[in-house]
Amino acid sequence: MPNMSLTKVPMPEQEPNVRNKNFEEVAMGYTAEMAIEEATRCLNCKHKPCVNGCPVNVRIPEFVEQVAAGEFEKAYEIITSTNGLPAVCGRVCPQESQCEGNCVRGIKGEPVAIGRLERFCADYHMANSHASATKPESNGIKVAVVGAGPSGLTCAADLAKKGYEVTIFEAFHKAGGVLVYGIPEFRLPKAIVQKEIDNLTNLGVEIKTNMVIGKVLSIDEIFDMGYKACFVGSGAGLPSFMGIEGEALIGVYSANEYLTRANLMKAYLPEYDTPVMKSKSVAVVGGGNVAMDAARTAKRLGAENVYIVYRRGMEEMPARKEEIHHAIEEGIIFKNLNNPVKLIGDEEGRVSKMECIEMELGEPDASGRRRPIEKEGSNFLLDVDTVIMSIGTSPNPLIRSTTEGLEANKRGCLVVNEDTLQTTREGIYAGGDAVTGAATVILAMGAGKQAAESIDNYLQNK
Ligand SMILES: Cc1cc2nc3c(=O)[nH]c(=O)nc-3n(C[C@H](O)[C@H](O)[C@H](O)COP(=O)(O)OP(=O)(O)OC[C@H]3O[C@@H](n4cnc5c(N)ncnc54)[C@H](O)[C@@H]3O)c2cc1C
Repeated sequence: MPNMSLTKVPMPEQEPNVRNKNFEEVAMGYTAEMAIEEATRCLNCKHKPCVNGCPVNVRIPEFVEQVAAGEFEKAYEIITSTNGLPAVCGRVCPQESQCEGNCVRGIKGEPVAIGRLERFCADYHMANSHASATKPESNGIKVAVVGAGPSGLTCAADLAKKGYEVTIFEAFHKAGGVLVYGIPEFRLPKAIVQKEIDNLTNLGVEIKTNMVIGKVLSIDEIFDMGYKACFVGSGAGLPSFMGIEGEALIGVYSANEYLTRANLMKAYLPEYDTPVMKSKSVAVVGGGNVAMDAARTAKRLGAENVYIVYRRGMEEMPARKEEIHHAIEEGIIFKNLNNPVKLIGDEEGRVSKMECIEMELGEPDASGRRRPIEKEGSNFLLDVDTVIMSIGTSPNPLIRSTTEGLEANKRGCLVVNEDTLQTTREGIYAGGDAVTGAATVILAMGAGKQAAESIDNYLQNK
């Protein structure tokens, strides 16, 4: 008999007033007993709607059934037959709009906690299994991957499993992409990302770091080195700014820069000397997940007041509900329906005030959300010493500007054939944020998988 409880087994979490002062993980994970109890809520539906909601088609009911039976290693094997980063996806995937969004149990109550169960299996495996993946026999064909984010890592893993000799060229000194430089430690511990990357290198994938393609080497030079195909998974790391007065003042960051200093360069640890402002009052401009991460990071770095300044209402915020809920619990102050119009500096050139204007919502715009309209004469000043702009990112033009034949659309995203993910140049494939603009980990992984299939077809038919 399935467990007919209408609610998920709750996930233990650190208390908000404790966790907003440390960088340890907020959600602490299920115990084996909790995982079994939650897994027995699954009805094992014939049509498996949850699987259709997953961009990499994890065989969800099958793995959940194994969890319910206490066969955690078998569950892990089922997950990893289609998903190479389960500990990551179990933590950061927007399950509410994917697998869990399609779960039948969600019609009358909460869906099965698929993400938490996936995380449990991955963590269980890491804690209990010491077996490492073995290197498949090589077919002698070299393939290059640009970028070690989720799209590049997934593409590399799938190609390596097919016997290709894969080299990843990564600009940073560490592999992982946004998983290591963007998403904070308290949501995704970096040691966990590293373990999943180690699984990849065990498959024989070589990762060359500090290799900014387009500067150190061009893609043409990579082909000259004997690589027969190339996947570009270079992400969308170029931050946007508002174009208002004062954005060049000291203390104004893009969310990417702020988070990179805190995450990749460990600004929060006393033994590291990466400079990041010790702030008192921080305004984060934007309403997405990145804004929530920046605000929660600023709070943990010691800021007394951290504001989210967003031009629409709470309902229209694009961030996941869970992230907004966590931010509110941790004391982040939401200043919705306000928009910055100017940043004002002190005599030393540091930002000291943000001039904002109040907004009201009009008719829905092209995005379907109600259009924010300025309320005339409602300007006011907010005291701040740090401003973090989190209003979106786009792909960096470096690769397309140094590679002949690569076309991009007007948002700067590489143009690809939807079925094969081949770019406008033969032998070069692309996927993830570099093609879609800022999206999600699992979509980037799905693209990496699709491209690996296409590259294999291309090279086998060549
Ligand atoms: C702060 C933040 C929080 C997020 N939170 C979530 C979340 O909770 N859930 C979720 O699903 N998604 C989240 N996302 C989005 C998600 O992380 C991205 O959609 C995903 O990482 C895209 O993967 P990718 O492989 O396409 O690119 P990336 O992860 O950006 O990786 C691209 C890699 O390419 C490298 N690179 C770039 N240019 C070059 C070059 N010229 N030469 C060599 N290497 C290069 C970069 O250094 C990087 O390592 C978040 C994003 C951010 C910024």
